[in-house]
Amino acid sequence: MSEFTALIERQKANVLANKTKPVSDRIKLLKQLKSVLKKEEEKLITALFRDLNKSEFDAYTTEIGIVYTEIDFFIKHLRSWSKRKKVKAPLSHTGTRSYIYKEAYGSVLIISPWNYPIQLAIAPLIGAIAAGNSVILKPSELTDATSIALAKMFSENFEEEQIFVVQGGPEVSKTLLAEDFDYIFFTGSERVGKLVMEAAAKNLTPVTLELGGKSPCIVDDTADLKVAAKRIAWGKYTNAGQTCVAPDYIYIDKKIKKEFLEELKRTVFELYGEEPIDNDRYTKIVSEKHFDRLINFLSNGFTVLGGKTNREELVIEPTVLTDISWDDHVMAEEIFGPILPILEYEQLAEVIGEVNKRPSPLALYIFSESDEVSKQIISSISFGGGCINDVIYHLSSPFLPFGGVGSSGMGSYHGKASFDTFSHSKSIMKQTTKFDIALRYGTTKNSLKKIKL
Ligand code: NAD
Repeated sequence: MSEFTALIERQKANVLANKTKPVSDRIKLLKQLKSVLKKEEEKLITALFRDLNKSEFDAYTTEIGIVYTEIDFFIKHLRSWSKRKKVKAPLSHTGTRSYIYKEAYGSVLIISPWNYPIQLAIAPLIGAIAAGNSVILKPSELTDATSIALAKMFSENFEEEQIFVVQGGPEVSKTLLAEDFDYIFFTGSERVGKLVMEAAAKNLTPVTLELGGKSPCIVDDTADLKVAAKRIAWGKYTNAGQTCVAPDYIYIDKKIKKEFLEELKRTVFELYGEEPIDNDRYTKIVSEKHFDRLINFLSNGFTVLGGKTNREELVIEPTVLTDISWDDHVMAEEIFGPILPILEYEQLAEVIGEVNKRPSPLALYIFSESDEVSKQIISSISFGGGCINDVIYHLSSPFLPFGGVGSSGMGSYHGKASFDTFSHSKSIMKQTTKFDIALRYGTTKNSLKKIKL
């Protein structure tokens, strides 16, 4: 029993009493969520600025805009997704009709991280409420201005039996995890993901784990280097590299490295100016702890771009490191910051071999004009998802399920995948009473008496 037990019971009772289930009510709730977000937009953008120095452009394009698109997509498709689906039956089931019903789980716990504190809290919440569940949301303590704004927004506009925000850090999170939820959706680190799964096992609660890892970006000698440099720089340095699907490192064909580096430098200057450290629209590092962890990597290899830091402002310039090998500590863990190490290769087989020695990445990117190369990489490396000739963009399509594999996570969401994640599929077969097939009964003439045991 904790201070949350009674509320969770009330949330479950509401779901069971069908209060959250009629599709028209769920659509109404999604519309209400969008209009409340619109009303609170300015406050949310200010909170993101306070927590992470996020520019208004980034706040809109990487957080709030993505959430609006997801809500609109759900409003458009929810009726059709929620309908009972008729499916075929085999010959042995002649006379039957088979259906799949979508059913809400009940009370869902969503635990979200700090790097996109609005998008990563609200996007799963959309799927959960659209499927008819109630939600307890626990955002990150590291971005507290945004957590406070979200808590206020939900408490002022929604019933707590429907959506409730709990603020706090690991201790609060642990208290919540000890409760008997019907579903747990976690986004964060692999370390905490394991704790979440352990806690969920006690109640056999199903989980989705959206975790991280080192996402490679492979550039081969057929790639359009100008385009590659621009897209990689954008994907790596947006949010100061604090993006779960940011290209963690580049693996580049040795022949084109020099030319690519020139393009990359040009692009970074174009995007952030000659002195990015002074750019007031550049996202900061979330905490001193993360800042100190990141600057340790700057002693690795050779800094060919950036490298300046400001501990007071928690800023690290967009940085590129060359002469890096797998033995450097920048290659030992997910970087999650604006530092881009570059590895070189001569044969693609080396890349496939090295990446496959390590945990399955959340994302993988290929820059190449060769379909053969892309096919070979996709078929020989296991990873969550990714892009050919782009980075990150796959995440923002509601038509593509988003999630990891192995240590980068389990389960997926966005669009229909979210609806399916937060719904139990209940299979129902309706049998005819007009006739009966005798064969199935062991006591009839045609029984299995001839079978010797
Ligand atoms: P984190 O695991 O430290 O924290 C995530 C959430 O878990 C927070 O709400 C935090 O309060 C809570 N938490 C922390 N310690 C806990 C504990 N001991 N018990 C229970 N709950 C606890 O992760 P983070 O630092 O906020 O986020 C960074 C990580 O998240 C990176 O590894 C990144 O790749 C990953 N990530 C993944 C995705 C994705 O969609 N797959 C998105 C963003 C971030």
